[in-house]
Amino acid sequence: MQSQLKIFNTLTGKKEDFKPINPPKVLMYACGPTVYDLSHLGHARMALTFDVIQRYLRFAGYDVTFVRNITDVDDKIINKAKELNVRPEEIALKYTDTFHKDMHDLNAALPDVEPRATEYIEKMLAFTQSLIDAGHAYEAGGDVYFDVLSFKTYGKLKKQSLDEMIQGAREQVRSQSELKELKKNHFDFALWKSVDQKEPGWQSPWGWGRPGWHLECSTMIKNVLGETIDIHGGGEDLVFPHHENEIAQSEALHKKTLANYWIHNSFVQVEAEKMSKSLGNFRTIQSILESYSADTIRFFVLQTHYRSPIEFTEKSMESAKAGISRLIRAAQFAPEANGKTTDNIDIAPVEKLDQEFRKAMDNDFNTPQAVSALFGFADTIFVTTDPNTAKKYTEELRRYASVLGFTLEDNRRSLDPATTAKLKEIVQSLTETAADTDDASQLMEMLLSAREQARADKDYKRSDMIRDRLLEVGIKVMDVKGGKATWECS
Ligand SMILES: [Zn+2]
Repeated sequence: MQSQLKIFNTLTGKKEDFKPINPPKVLMYACGPTVYDLSHLGHARMALTFDVIQRYLRFAGYDVTFVRNITDVDDKIINKAKELNVRPEEIALKYTDTFHKDMHDLNAALPDVEPRATEYIEKMLAFTQSLIDAGHAYEAGGDVYFDVLSFKTYGKLKKQSLDEMIQGAREQVRSQSELKELKKNHFDFALWKSVDQKEPGWQSPWGWGRPGWHLECSTMIKNVLGETIDIHGGGEDLVFPHHENEIAQSEALHKKTLANYWIHNSFVQVEAEKMSKSLGNFRTIQSILESYSADTIRFFVLQTHYRSPIEFTEKSMESAKAGISRLIRAAQFAPEANGKTTDNIDIAPVEKLDQEFRKAMDNDFNTPQAVSALFGFADTIFVTTDPNTAKKYTEELRRYASVLGFTLEDNRRSLDPATTAKLKEIVQSLTETAADTDDASQLMEMLLSAREQARADKDYKRSDMIRDRLLEVGIKVMDVKGGKATWECS
């Protein structure tokens, strides 16, 4: 029986039945990166969260259009360009490329549409003009501000009334630059900011300037997906003011709900501090990929529910590595045929996996439970003795794992050259012939066969010696009941 997908909606603070506007179609938007620097683990968490959500929706039979933008116009980009004395476009292009590489290396699918802010300037100007015409925005000294007092439900995503917010703001000390702004109210936000003619910008009815960040998402959603979408997502730091302001702009103009479900993922913490660029404790995705595989990073992220914070430590990464290794081993599992094989495969374990997996994911994308369903199925695989059944089970394991974006690829083939050289030495010393391959898997195959032979000959001294020499180079041999021994790098 198909269970009902439930999603925790930030807007209502409740888990709700997911009912798309026009099933099986699902329109989904997530805020993308501002491309001025390398992405860190916090970005990876957000990307992987929405990657898994769109993968699962497709798996569950929905026809998803997933849009994620690229913010390629922003003060941060322009400041960096000034610092390096290059054009802002160069910075934006460079970091769009590195972001794409990060996503590729993490096996995170690209969105169906990836609009760039600079391609939507005309549309943003039109959006702003419409808001002015409707009495929701005003021009002041070349800037255009959204008038929050004109939008009565402002604060509904943050869950604070406008009165409360205004009260709170009176008690805040304002920055110098803010005091210079010509806003009517503290919470009014810029749709358009005037800048000096010498600065990068665009001509507008209000003079030379640049668009506000919030306006960008509202405009792209309207033009790419429509006035109301099913799911809008992002990191929880975007709830206020970014998403609140997107709601204000879009709903004031269209008099329609912008998004029916708001999904926000939690932070990655490093020693209990939020991982962000400003804290300087970030690690880039590429630097983490030097030490850990994409599957390991994904396992680390998905073993916690997306709405709970996760703590990044070497220890947690090591345990993620051990966890994913078990699934990889299960996916490679192949018992040897003992004469008879069956075509009559028992599919009850596959059905159980399917049920558990969907139940977990239908409960607000509970990936830790989905991962534990994969583990339960892996246990079944390890005690399977029939090769045909094992083949079917390993295929199913891969299929369900791929919904979470795991490749379960045996990445042991590409050991580092130093380890491979040592393996060659061991092969040579044992067999007294030179190994004519640099393929780590093949070398390990030879060593495991030699060890198996030693065990068959009851020469346990030799079999232990092979195991110990491998351990010295960082390779752990594991005996599998009823099957061939397997191995992993420590
Ligand atoms: Zn956005």
